[in-house]
Amino acid sequence: SSTGEQHQFQAETRMLLDIVAKSLYSDKEVFVRELVSNASDAIEKARYLSVQGEGPILGESDLLVSITTDKYTKTLTIQDSGVGMTKEELISNLGTIARSGSKAFVEQLKEGGKGGGIDPSSIIGQFGVGFYSVFMVADKVEVFTRTRSQDAVGYKWTSDGCGSYTIEESSDAVPGTQVVCHLKTENREFSDDDTIKGVLKKYSSFVAAPIELNGQQINNIQPLWMLEPKSVTPEMHNEFYKFVGSSYDNPRFILHYRTDVPIDLRCVLYFPEGKPGLFELNREGGDGGVSLYSRRVLIKNKAESVMPKWLRFVKGVVDSEDIPLNLSREMLQDSAIIKRVRTVLQNRCVRFLAEKQSKEPKSYQEFFEDYGIFLKEGIITATEQIEKEEIARLLVYESSSRPSGDRINLTDYISKMPDTQQDIYYLAAPSRELAEQSPYFEELKRRGIDVLFCYENYDEVVLMQLRQINGRNIVSAEKDMRRDRDEAKYDEAKGLDKSETSGLMDYLKGVLAGKCWAVKTTPRLKAHPCVVTVEEMASARHFVRTQFSQIP
Ligand code: ADP
Ligand code: MG
Repeated sequence: SSTGEQHQFQAETRMLLDIVAKSLYSDKEVFVRELVSNASDAIEKARYLSVQGEGPILGESDLLVSITTDKYTKTLTIQDSGVGMTKEELISNLGTIARSGSKAFVEQLKEGGKGGGIDPSSIIGQFGVGFYSVFMVADKVEVFTRTRSQDAVGYKWTSDGCGSYTIEESSDAVPGTQVVCHLKTENREFSDDDTIKGVLKKYSSFVAAPIELNGQQINNIQPLWMLEPKSVTPEMHNEFYKFVGSSYDNPRFILHYRTDVPIDLRCVLYFPEGKPGLFELNREGGDGGVSLYSRRVLIKNKAESVMPKWLRFVKGVVDSEDIPLNLSREMLQDSAIIKRVRTVLQNRCVRFLAEKQSKEPKSYQEFFEDYGIFLKEGIITATEQIEKEEIARLLVYESSSRPSGDRINLTDYISKMPDTQQDIYYLAAPSRELAEQSPYFEELKRRGIDVLFCYENYDEVVLMQLRQINGRNIVSAEKDMRRDRDEAKYDEAKGLDKSETSGLMDYLKGVLAGKCWAVKTTPRLKAHPCVVTVEEMASARHFVRTQFSQIP
């Protein structure tokens, strides 16, 4: 504008402007999220001042973000009834990049020890770069703003995002702030009602202030994860689950949890009632089921890196104040903070499932039948032994000493072992019937040892990977057969005599020469004439026989 007072952006700001506009964000649409977040912050500040008696008294209906689109003029306008800005604030907050009036506000709040009326975490801004994202899509931006005090003067700030901006007094400015984005032709889609509605629903469904688009309210779903867990009813969870999980079933288990150490997290995590679909089972499928938020604003839907891969069937929301909104996709992948989130969430989920196992064994068994394969994948993919063992405490198996359908976990198995037993025994077989008749089981059964029965073709791979738990070795029944032990003398009276035996052995050794490691007699078999054993991966025969595509 020719009448406006011209200001140059500071040199650093000019440089950063370029970076923000060209490469900070991977999706252009996030500028909407940034402007709406600022509007919501301004409203929260106004609410706070009102509660503190430092500003005019405001009712809920006075506090609104109102958005309008106009295809013909290619404009998107975001109007809020928040605190507005003085001329000095316009210069310092919009004229200087990386200068966050919001962060300063929160710090003031904290220093003043004034908690009353506002949760500092409801203020979103803290980095002072979000506003400039508008220049990814707009070649001219006008900001009309006026504070809420009676005699306040209104201003209009204008910039093309290149080198300078102008400020002039404006009688068009009403209390609050209005940002008018004049879109570049190639970004005109952001003046389309449906496009903006989609973007708002995606990123801003849960911001504190009410948002209207062309007169219609957009965000009417409560951010459940921010509420006190006790105040949330199962019906609210069911509804919310359908929203965040795009699911038709209900949650089976709900983990609503908050922590401050080692990182600030608020989460609602749902373990689905339905069985896993092919989509979840497919390890390469990519997406996780959990969306990442920061202060109620979406950072990434289905953020695959927030949860460990094996927990990809868990749905819900993770919100962390500690994660910057403008984390790009690449940064999401390997940032240290995300790794920390992942570790915390894995530990919490494992502990949660362990509690379910002991407190609701029946529902836990059902869960295990449907989702046990994921836990096993977790054991295989975990890098540390301690991690493997933690997940392995969630495994439950049938065992030879208990009725079919009854399962025992490894910790209980160990606690029931007689003093004479050192190791944990398991037998992999396709079914209970075959397990009970197995030649590998015969002798352990006679010795009265409880043996875990594993029926899934990948179980043995999992247990071999695990190797041990709580300091006890996990040994397959077949491997045990190969161990040398003080054994009862072979009873000639009941079987072949010495010369018949050596004749048979000579014959077998001849026929099997080069095909097996050794041929031995054993007193361990009574119901079977002979048995083949291998050192490692014994019952992997079952595994090899079935398709590899079933490996988790
Ligand atoms: P951040 O939100 O991280 O602080 P932004 O670049 O988005 O950074 O905004 C910079 C500052 O400009 C904000 O901290 C705030 O002080 C001010 N601001 C931006 N938009 C508004 C608005 N709609 N109303 C009042 N102040 C605003
Ligand atoms: Mg902001």
